[in-house]
Amino acid sequence: MSRVTLVTGGMGGLGEAICIKMANMGYAVATTYSPGNTKAEAWLTEMKEKGYNFRAYPCDVADYDAALECVSQIVKDMGPIDVLVNNAGITRDMTFKKMDKLNWDLVMQTNLDSVFNMTKPVCDGMVERGWGRIINISSVNGQKGAFGQTNYSAAKAGMHGFSKALAYEVARKGVTVNTISPGYIGTKMVTAIAPEVLETKILPQIPMGRLGKPEEVAGLVAYLASEEAAFLTGANIAINGGQHMQ
Ligand code: NDP
Repeated sequence: MSRVTLVTGGMGGLGEAICIKMANMGYAVATTYSPGNTKAEAWLTEMKEKGYNFRAYPCDVADYDAALECVSQIVKDMGPIDVLVNNAGITRDMTFKKMDKLNWDLVMQTNLDSVFNMTKPVCDGMVERGWGRIINISSVNGQKGAFGQTNYSAAKAGMHGFSKALAYEVARKGVTVNTISPGYIGTKMVTAIAPEVLETKILPQIPMGRLGKPEEVAGLVAYLASEEAAFLTGANIAINGGQHMQ
């Protein structure tokens, strides 16, 4: 039987590429989408036409009870989750001066609490079965900070603290926990930025002079999920065209 992967936010730019890559690698793929997403059925149909039989579950990843319910339903439908990709995320950019509690909480809950919410119901099972992969999609801006992103940078940096701490706890149990920190990738989160800002402020920061491709990040996810990556845990892997070298 195929191993099962759950990708949160799989209908977004990076998430879709990750779902496709994992399916091409032979995994059964489930994804979540926001309960208000009216395009979910159309996306599933489009994917089916391309030969991908994904299963999709409405779930606000910021809501712990919803996450428990969602994972329980996936396990009933597909079996235990072997690979969890915590990919769902949002931005609400504003300077700290303008940052209100609502936009702080929204970003922390969606980007960081969600990692706890989704990992909690899958981790024990991975440990019991002696195999698992938890892959957290963070951001270069969690590594270096970014103007107007105190909320997002804090949440994304927090994801890696979580990865390292949990990696210690499950290291002897066949479960790895890693963070991927993408730079600017050409998804709608980035192409929504005004073209002049992209051309004059963002691309000049990237030595490769281009945005990353979702497929490039998906390839890294597939590697971390593979047998060959069994010795790799607690890492924060940058994939950013040289924008932030460590
Ligand atoms: P998108 O906006 O295209 O996708 C984000 C996904 O998150 C959507 O599928 C969305 O689902 C889902 N999502 C958001 N809020 C919730 C919620 N409360 N509950 C469930 N799902 C939710 O962004 P990207 O694909 O570009 O980004 C994916 C991840 O990669 C994010 O974590 C982002 O921070 C990170 N990242 C992206 C970079 C980039 O350059 N694009 C760079 C670095 C990191 P729905 O549409 O159903 O609401």
